[in-house]
Amino acid sequence: MKGSRKVDTSPIAEHLDRPRKGAARRGVLRSGFECPAQPMISNRETPLDSFKDAQGRLIPLRAQPEFPSAKFAIREAPDEEAVPMDVLFVGGGPAGLAGAIELARLVRADSESGGTLGDLEIGILEKATSLGEHCLSGAVINPSPFRELFPDTPVSDLPFRGAVGGERVLMLTANGQRKLPTPPPMRNHGNHAASLCEVVSWLGDRAEELGVNIFTGFPAAALLLDGDAVVGVRTTPTGLDRDGNPGSGYMPATDLSARVTVLCEGCRGPLTAAWMEEIGAGSQNPQIYALGVKELWEVPKPLDEVIHTLGWPLPGDAFGGTWIYPMGEELVSIGIVVGLDYRQSGLDVHELLQRVKSHPLFRGVLEGGEMVEWGAKTIPEGGWWSIPERLSGSGLLIAGDAAGLVDVPSLKGIHYAMWSGIHAARTIFEALKAGEPTAEALSAYDGRIRNGDIGRDLFRRRNMRLAFKGGFWSGALKSVLSVATGGRVPGGRIAVDEDAAEPRTVTAGETFSPDGKYTFSKLDAVFRSGNATRDDIPSHLIAPAEVSRDLVNLYEHMCPAGVYEWGEDGMIINAPNCIDCRATDVLGPRWTPREGGSGPSYKRM
Ligand SMILES: Cc1cc2nc3c(=O)[nH]c(=O)nc-3n(C[C@H](O)[C@H](O)[C@H](O)COP(=O)(O)OP(=O)(O)OC[C@H]3O[C@@H](n4cnc5c(N)ncnc54)[C@H](O)[C@@H]3O)c2cc1C
Ligand code: SF4
Repeated sequence: MKGSRKVDTSPIAEHLDRPRKGAARRGVLRSGFECPAQPMISNRETPLDSFKDAQGRLIPLRAQPEFPSAKFAIREAPDEEAVPMDVLFVGGGPAGLAGAIELARLVRADSESGGTLGDLEIGILEKATSLGEHCLSGAVINPSPFRELFPDTPVSDLPFRGAVGGERVLMLTANGQRKLPTPPPMRNHGNHAASLCEVVSWLGDRAEELGVNIFTGFPAAALLLDGDAVVGVRTTPTGLDRDGNPGSGYMPATDLSARVTVLCEGCRGPLTAAWMEEIGAGSQNPQIYALGVKELWEVPKPLDEVIHTLGWPLPGDAFGGTWIYPMGEELVSIGIVVGLDYRQSGLDVHELLQRVKSHPLFRGVLEGGEMVEWGAKTIPEGGWWSIPERLSGSGLLIAGDAAGLVDVPSLKGIHYAMWSGIHAARTIFEALKAGEPTAEALSAYDGRIRNGDIGRDLFRRRNMRLAFKGGFWSGALKSVLSVATGGRVPGGRIAVDEDAAEPRTVTAGETFSPDGKYTFSKLDAVFRSGNATRDDIPSHLIAPAEVSRDLVNLYEHMCPAGVYEWGEDGMIINAPNCIDCRATDVLGPRWTPREGGSGPSYKRM
């Protein structure tokens, strides 16, 4: 195994040494209610009814720009100065890091036992400035992949904040609560509460110890293709001015070549979508998503149990719930998750989280405390039926959330992401040992996912989330049946549309006035995400050609970071506020990767 500094990473190293322009100049997101400095007027209002159905309901899909797949999959060879990798993991989250660690372990064991594989250059490309800064989760973690990767490490040395003690599931009304039996998939005995940022940072240290090359601050902008084969990736350039021209401190894109690229870019990854379009692969159901908004609170009293709630303040036609997790003595994680198939255009997930904090349950936990971090992120919720029909191809594998490996009934994705990374590593290792990582050799990965533990869990609970498409109470009944019959009833596929095709009744949304102590405006909240985007960055969001007032109203409520607003001349896009949750890409303007290090700087999310 070569050391992490032996490859010629000079373009990347040079870039890393470059002072981050603008990071210290954050004028936009000061705490308070100031208007961001870079309003970008996108469109003028047009009196369009074409975004609505016959009942006057908005259909976001009708306005959504086409997915620009050609931007993310380019038929070009890596340039002459490309950084040569054998295996490249795109995304330094749990999937990418577990995969890189397992591959490095296998290569080391092979070398120590006199194997012939030789050295391998393993790389991880991560868009955040430091590992973990773009990672957000609940999180209660199933520790099984940690036992696999670190069999000699006692659990007390793993990056967890405490074993789950008690747990409760509650049905909330505006002022009351009723305890429900904990559904079997939601039982957390043996699991651990943790900060995903801390877990990822810890995994990064282990990967580096094994000689993995970690390139932080480098978003992959596109796959490089030779015919059908993925031969590397191209990063985003940095230092572009507002109009997209090279500005001071400009650094062009860097190419990295790889024999195998593993896409671990998380939920709603555009490279994954482009590759699927490229090879014409689909899934039985389209992927559907939820948006989670989370806050970390320092509190005077420790919490000793995991709490999940259903019901208030969600309307009956939206799927979701809240959580309260203990994070050690002084810290508590709270959050809300809502399916992006919600039916009212004025529903606002950030505001629902603000509202729920007025409930006696939440107030009791947070009383006397302080909100110290805020963030938001999407989750793939489609489960078994939405897994891409191919997770492997020539020079490519897909792992973790990028492949949709989340089990919504148990609210788990981290250990599935890690296990999928481990399976990817084992498949690549075997293919390399056998000679070449051909598409056929890599296709063993599909079987490992579908026919192994991940596939078994997702298949057994394949309809539990989808059952709620027909309403909360019928969904609850079908879920009980599904658990009782091991997933056999309802057994057949419940077909669903993509979220953007779901018609929305036009509603104004409830008025909300943050008090700055327990409840926060979106701008205040973005400030607490540590957003490090420079103010004069070009917009990375592709807006529709035309918008209507009702449509922009939907975007305004959908976006937890206050990126969209209606101005005198049409829609204003405050692109630097974006914290990369990717909800916009599900329902509205398209999200694309931007300059490395932009976005949130989560520390303990
Ligand atoms: C609100 C919320 C609560 C959750 N709660 C739980 C829970 O309690 N327990 C649980 O097990 N799971 C939970 N999950 C799910 C879990 O967090 C995910 O399943 C898991 O993080 C997926 O890991 P991943 O590595 O596939 O993707 P991610 O964790 O999303 O990591 C992807 C990484 O890739 C990077 N990246 C993305 N695009 C690029 C690019 N183009 N170039 C370079 N880098 C890129 C990102 O910055 C990130 O670091 C929750 C998720 C959310 C959103
Ligand atoms: S613009 Fe889109 S990706 Fe960015 S924070 Fe808003 S909804 Fe999320």
